[in-house]
Amino acid sequence: MSHFWSAVVHGLTPYVPGEQPKLADLIKLNTNENPYGPSPRVLAALQEEVNDGLRLYPDPNAESLKAAVAAYYGVTAGQVFVGNGSDEVLAHAFLGLLKHDRPLLFPDITYSFYPVYCGLYGVDFVTVPLTAAFEIDPENYGRPNGGIIFPNPNAPTGRVLPLSAIETLLARHPASVVVVDEAYVDFGGESAIALVDRYPNLLVIQTLSKSRSLAGLRVGFAVGHPKLIEALERVKNSFNSYPLGRLAIRGAVAAMEDRDYFDRTRTAIIRTREALVTNLTRLGFEVLPSAANFVFARHPARDAVQLAAELRKKAIIVRHFKQERIEQFLRITVGTDDQCAALGRALEEILG
Ligand SMILES: *Cc1c(COP(=O)(O)O)cnc(C)c1O
Repeated sequence: MSHFWSAVVHGLTPYVPGEQPKLADLIKLNTNENPYGPSPRVLAALQEEVNDGLRLYPDPNAESLKAAVAAYYGVTAGQVFVGNGSDEVLAHAFLGLLKHDRPLLFPDITYSFYPVYCGLYGVDFVTVPLTAAFEIDPENYGRPNGGIIFPNPNAPTGRVLPLSAIETLLARHPASVVVVDEAYVDFGGESAIALVDRYPNLLVIQTLSKSRSLAGLRVGFAVGHPKLIEALERVKNSFNSYPLGRLAIRGAVAAMEDRDYFDRTRTAIIRTREALVTNLTRLGFEVLPSAANFVFARHPARDAVQLAAELRKKAIIVRHFKQERIEQFLRITVGTDDQCAALGRALEEILG
């Protein structure tokens, strides 16, 4: 019945998310979820919000959440946009800020949703190769463009750019919006939100899915100049006035407010990551330096697809990307110490 489809739908190449298996006893290291539960304060706030009030629409502007994000980062609420997961915020940025006559630039190896949004919204793009060491080099972004976007730390490499390099890009491309997707910044990067007051062309996007352990709630946000935020609001209010439900708003506010739990869990993940890197290196893997809650690693003597299949037989799932330059890498989410130890034992058996 695909003759019912519009021409737009015929032309789409949708994103394929990592598997969410129904089996409960798998060690799931494939989608960069947080191995620790959400803050107990978030769970309590959510419980409180389950009441009669659910018959009413939520605040279309999610003012309380914008205020909580603004307070956390020391910006004004007018510099904050919130959405149903950062994927939605990204989508609005592609349509509202990155779709121009000149091509959008992003790395050849990066979040694979970017070309998907380009396909959906008809955004012309050019990819810029990472260096041989899988780093973003601002020097390679010298061509005319209608915008620049990259994650920092980058995904799926985990490599991070210092703020000085981001500032170089911002200063060299004053007529382009530069979007920094900080999905993983809390695990080892420095947030470019520190630069938004000086660069009106900077939009920083973050999510509560990774470092705040709320992938199931679907909340993301953007911080930037009020004029950039206004563009996102215009798109949002032409698409869905209520992207965040009452539960999402309430839970996200509690998550932004519980700094202590946030700091404890992200610190634990960083510590586990360092131990995992040491162990993988001992097992002969080449591991890229990671500032994220995952590592990107290849074994010089073992095929990545086969390794992933062997791990799966042992009930451990990791992510593999079938893309040139990285087809021999595995992306492994940092789990708990126990999960990472189990991964180490499984790999030891597989490698012999
Ligand atoms: C996980 C991730 C996102 C999406 O996060 P959601 O808020 O869950 O939609 C965006 N960008 C990158 C690079 C990610 O890894």
